[in-house]
Amino acid sequence: MIKIEKDLENTPNSLLDSKTITRRNTCIRDKKYHQNKKFHQRYKQSDIKEKLKNIYNDKCAFCEQKIRECKDDNLEECSSTVEHYRPKSKYYWLAYSWDNLLWCCHRCNQNKDNNFDIENTLGTLEKTTFLKKIHNSSKIYNRIEKPLMVHPEFDNVVNKLAFNNGIITSDDLRVKYTIETCGLDRDDLNEKRQTIIEDFIENIIDKKLKNESIQDALHELMSDLKKKEKEFIALRYWILKNYKSLMEVS
Ligand SMILES: [Zn+2]
Repeated sequence: MIKIEKDLENTPNSLLDSKTITRRNTCIRDKKYHQNKKFHQRYKQSDIKEKLKNIYNDKCAFCEQKIRECKDDNLEECSSTVEHYRPKSKYYWLAYSWDNLLWCCHRCNQNKDNNFDIENTLGTLEKTTFLKKIHNSSKIYNRIEKPLMVHPEFDNVVNKLAFNNGIITSDDLRVKYTIETCGLDRDDLNEKRQTIIEDFIENIIDKKLKNESIQDALHELMSDLKKKEKEFIALRYWILKNYKSLMEVS
């Protein structure tokens, strides 16, 4: 999980058009989200998907895997999903809100499902206040509700993560909840992350054996951190911070 920058003023057109507004108004009138294609397709429009894909560098908001790399037992290749941070089943009026839509892999999406626990009071629809800010109300809701799920566009949790043996953990209550809910400690992810750690250590050992400076290996890692399209950036930060102890262990 890394922090993602999204321009909340740059809302995709199809979220602003009359069809979407009509669907939202129907949900508000009926006090529920309608689980059918007619309603789903309004947040799956190509301009929305395209923008999310770019903003997230086609990586999952939670597991940081390239969407195409995410293998699923039931699917040949993992499909991308427009994910609702606040589940649309409960927060039906936020089904088409720009700041509630994330780019997510199929596995994390399935695991997250409708799980969304909060520490504080449940936010409700206040038509006069929220409808004016329907694409930019997360901050208000976050203050009221104190959700346990990390929002990658508002929370920076990179320093709250650890990856010993590739296994993602945290002492932070919210990060822990997000790891458990999305299943970010699943075996295939742990293995991939461990391979990155091992490759880095191997690279350092190799430099030492050749009497070369390990600075090159560190610079390589630092330059990877600047490549936003790279998978597992949070892990790479952790390796950089902990490389001395990783070397001792190996
Ligand atoms: Zn994922």
